[in-house]
Amino acid sequence: MIAIDGPAGAGKTTLARRLAAELGLPYLNTGAMYRAVALEALRQGVHPDDGAALADLARRMRFTLSEDQPVPELRIDGRIPGPEITSPEVEAVVSRVARHPEVREVLRAEQRRLGEGGAVVEGRDIGSVVFPDASVKIFLLAEPRERAARRVRERASDEELARALHRRDALDARVNPFVPAPDAVAIDTTGLGEREVFERALEVVRERLGGGWA
Ligand code: C5P
Repeated sequence: MIAIDGPAGAGKTTLARRLAAELGLPYLNTGAMYRAVALEALRQGVHPDDGAALADLARRMRFTLSEDQPVPELRIDGRIPGPEITSPEVEAVVSRVARHPEVREVLRAEQRRLGEGGAVVEGRDIGSVVFPDASVKIFLLAEPRERAARRVRERASDEELARALHRRDALDARVNPFVPAPDAVAIDTTGLGEREVFERALEVVRERLGGGWA
């Protein structure tokens, strides 16, 4: 089990995908699960402060891993989560949806089930809460300016996205303060390219798994 945690825009998705391919493990994006619940809540008019109704909604969604890809990935109700889960509407509400303990309980149980055969799992609380026994825990960090710049490059050349990221960050810090697991290895990705982050993470995997992984 490899846990990749850290704030938005620190480079988790790129690294986690690449590690999963390299190690021959499924890749699980837990942020996509919270986003999918937020999207469904918007569609069904469920209030983002109604934890019980949101948890019910999450319970009715079916989370699986694909079986038709070299790197198995998350499917929701049998489908690849679409670009609508990264829409500004979802960005604006996901932290509020994710702060409810009832919602987290449902999604964390699903994450444990999906990851039980081994996986690279990306999120905020994976090494600390979901898989505290993960053999490798990496916590990615980057300066806020760099995280915003990356997000803008990834998704569109839109400064509004940088501001949205900043707002979500502030909300996450207030409603979901995530603390790295004590045994997590921090990698500051500020000023590093994707390849450098990947290589540094592979070193951590090798150190943690000893000679077990060539
Ligand atoms: O990883 P990503 O930025 O896509 O996550 C979207 C949101 O989902 C985060 O801002 C956070 O509110 C929530 N989240 C969470 N716990 C996780 C992953 C994501 O609360 N493990």
